[in-house]
Amino acid sequence: MSTRSNVHEERLTAVRHKLAEWGVDGLLVSDDVNRRWLSGFTGSAGQLLITADKALLATDFRYWRQAAAQAPAFTLFKHRRAPEDGRAFFKATAVNRVGIEADHVTLSAAQKLRQEADSVAFKPINSAIEPFRAIKTAAEIDAIRAAAAITDAVMSQANDIFRPGLTEKAAAWALEKRMRELGADGMAFEVIVAAGENAALPHHRPGGRELRPGDPIIVDMGARLNGYHSDLTRTFFLGEPDEQFWAIYNLVLAAQTAVFDHIRPGLNAKEADALARDLIAAAGHKEHFGHGLGHGVGLGIHEAPALSPRAPEKSRLKAGMTITIEPGVYLPGWGGVRIEDLAVLTDDGAELLSHCPKTPLIPVFQN
Ligand code: ZN
Ligand code: ZN
Repeated sequence: MSTRSNVHEERLTAVRHKLAEWGVDGLLVSDDVNRRWLSGFTGSAGQLLITADKALLATDFRYWRQAAAQAPAFTLFKHRRAPEDGRAFFKATAVNRVGIEADHVTLSAAQKLRQEADSVAFKPINSAIEPFRAIKTAAEIDAIRAAAAITDAVMSQANDIFRPGLTEKAAAWALEKRMRELGADGMAFEVIVAAGENAALPHHRPGGRELRPGDPIIVDMGARLNGYHSDLTRTFFLGEPDEQFWAIYNLVLAAQTAVFDHIRPGLNAKEADALARDLIAAAGHKEHFGHGLGHGVGLGIHEAPALSPRAPEKSRLKAGMTITIEPGVYLPGWGGVRIEDLAVLTDDGAELLSHCPKTPLIPVFQN
């Protein structure tokens, strides 16, 4: 048996161990990413049904061959999209009480399930699979590292791409094109280029605003490669920076450095967030750091854990988690600075997965 299917056998076992705690005798998994993580099947439609002794993957005819090849730990159930197939799917495992993913199943899908399998009781379960996904295997960390290498290489070229007169949109496209040329399967999310006052908006959508000397420019981008993601933010300055820029830039950089110096497994996700937040607040910018410190990255671009002041007490950091560390300070009307890197938590700290330099300066040449 290949290592790949061993991984999926292990994941199945981990889920089976939770069935009793959830109070169900089966779990139905329909979220694309959770389905892929558990089975290895990368198709865009299908459901897993996992019980103590069975593991079924139901999908339609488009995917039968692919599913059989990619998910050897699961028994293929050939779904023909007829209502009686829905009934037969649950009958095949003799389950009575089935957990469904409360965060992913729509009301209409839940209604359909209840109609198709009227003898089964469905129980919504929050974050059934997500906590498992947060801890990465060595192979997953390598996959994220490979996606990060693409963003590192392209971000380092911002110097060549950015010049006065270029629109945010054109700059975003130039970055995206280069990521695809370096082998990215796609973008992790739409590339963000936010210039000048737009950089005060953490998730600005690039538009027709032209880059001008004197602009802080936030670039936030990620590559998708073999299902895994990267996420990287750098802030640049076009031309000769003023004191204001350096003050904010150095504060954000110091906040990020403080996190790298002190983050480790065992910390609560709120404590990790505070490593940066306290420093930014002490500099008088508490109100200007309005988002969490970071998030998990893997098969999903935003996944567990969430590093935030609102993180629950029980949300503890563990070795093997891949997270972003992205403090920011945003001043309405002026702009903002965010610096984001990807790291994996190790037994005693964190190892960086992104290695792009943090030189914010882009000289403007007169011609
Ligand atoms: Zn980002
Ligand atoms: Zn991020």
